Amino acid sequence: MKKIVLISALLSISACTPSVRTGGGAATGGLAMADTSRLSADVRTLSADTFLGRGPATRGEELTVNYIRDRLQAAGVQPGGPGGSWFQEVPLVQTDIVGTPSLSVNVDGQTIRLTQGTEIAVRASMQNVDRVNIQNAPLVFLGYGIRAPERNWDDYKGQDVRGKVGIVLINDPDFESGQGDFGGKAMTYYGRWTYKYEEAARQGLAGLLIVHETAPASYGWATVKNSNTNTMFDIVRDNPAEVHPPLEGWVQRDDAVRLFRAVGQDFEALKKLAQTREFRPVTLGSSTFSASYQLRKQTIRSRNVLGRLPGTTRPGETILYGAHWDHLGVGAPDATGDSIYNGAIDNATGVAAVLEIARLFAAGPHPQRSIVFAFWAAEEKGLLGSEHYASNPVYPLETTVAGFNIDALSATGRARDVLVVGFGQSDLEDRLNRVLASNSRVILPDPNPGAGYFFRSDHFPMAKRGVPMLYMDSGFDVLAGGSQAGKAADVAYRRDAYHQPADEYDPATWSFAGIAEDVAVLHQVGVRLANSRDWPNYRQTSEFRPVRDKTSASRR
Ligand SMILES: [Zn+2]
Repeated sequence: MKKIVLISALLSISACTPSVRTGGGAATGGLAMADTSRLSADVRTLSADTFLGRGPATRGEELTVNYIRDRLQAAGVQPGGPGGSWFQEVPLVQTDIVGTPSLSVNVDGQTIRLTQGTEIAVRASMQNVDRVNIQNAPLVFLGYGIRAPERNWDDYKGQDVRGKVGIVLINDPDFESGQGDFGGKAMTYYGRWTYKYEEAARQGLAGLLIVHETAPASYGWATVKNSNTNTMFDIVRDNPAEVHPPLEGWVQRDDAVRLFRAVGQDFEALKKLAQTREFRPVTLGSSTFSASYQLRKQTIRSRNVLGRLPGTTRPGETILYGAHWDHLGVGAPDATGDSIYNGAIDNATGVAAVLEIARLFAAGPHPQRSIVFAFWAAEEKGLLGSEHYASNPVYPLETTVAGFNIDALSATGRARDVLVVGFGQSDLEDRLNRVLASNSRVILPDPNPGAGYFFRSDHFPMAKRGVPMLYMDSGFDVLAGGSQAGKAADVAYRRDAYHQPADEYDPATWSFAGIAEDVAVLHQVGVRLANSRDWPNYRQTSEFRPVRDKTSASRR
């Protein structure tokens, strides 16, 4: 799902040296050797047309999960799923809106229709219902829609909003000023739309509409429209109403401004107020919101693949390595007529990396703590395989020491740095830094923390539940051409290949030397943790620290 990736669009690195190895010996800081030929073979296979873009619940899934299982087995890793299986079933609900939804606002007896996709973008309900029917629910402006007791912040102020439709702003209250209690320009989880819907469900709102503004959202209306008017997926939940209000959607800023004006309110003035602790919910005159639409649902089944090396002395304590195996499958053809979304970078590289880490662990002395290798389903549908695992953990999350997520590595070659997405969250960064430093490498902190990428990949369902998670990615400062070349390759990837059929393996220009080096680093960070009694944690300023600390008694 993520976009901060690089490839070798500008570089031509010889592919005739498939056995180039990294690490090994004092000169390279004592790292294990990751094998570029194994990495490239796995990426080549997983991104081949025969794997059909690895769509969940397709023939491509069958081939993919079996391939991963076979590689784990060959490495000497044990099955890590429930009941000694390699697989954890991931049932998913798939929901579509039938026809055109009827959506309207009523102000002083006058009904204004809102057009789905143009003025408003409402998702197919995730509440597992057959129909959404909201008649004249009062509209209330709720600022940023945040309740953060540890920051002494509450936009709801204890008001009863049950059955109403809320309107909220995207991002968090100090994004615009760049200074405050929510990390300044950096986005905290309170700024993500997923959080805002979850809070709305807790508050009993009938619906929540987020005002789209491009800068604080970090993407344009087209993204909002495409992702929200499409087929929706969710994990099968016992009580979906706990996390989803019946109606979830976005509204264009201009339409929100007009509505506020019609009820005698000034949008910009209320936004300023919402950036202060004093903000209280504002009822938008006598305006109401109505929605009516039918839903079509079905359940599909996908699978996480789990392998495990039991710890020698502390098997109940787990270190987790994960990467999503799925991609977009077969879809609309591009200009060349290619309709297979191979997902070579996103995320065959991550799967290959975790497989290689599994081989390194299996081949070396087995560590004291257990290592789990997870290959997540349905990341591209909303982090659903990892969310299912986090909701149904095979190994307790309280004693999961730490986790590492890999999503879309660069095939640009070796770099002097590694990127840490969401830099500043946990002390895993310090442990990573020590391994890097002994190899004369450095961390590049997330260059775009306002976009909230830390909340957009598979480590996040675990992070949200307090497990310290590191999301490391390829660096930008490549040996061949420096940061300028690295950034140019990143821009080229996003423009020409990201989530397109052109995300294909290119044996002529790709180098696995950088991936091998980063794999060796992540392996080493895990080796040290797995042979220690350390319990890493989130930093005091992190929104995930309080939830981790709640279970501290289970870690000694
Ligand atoms: Zn991805």
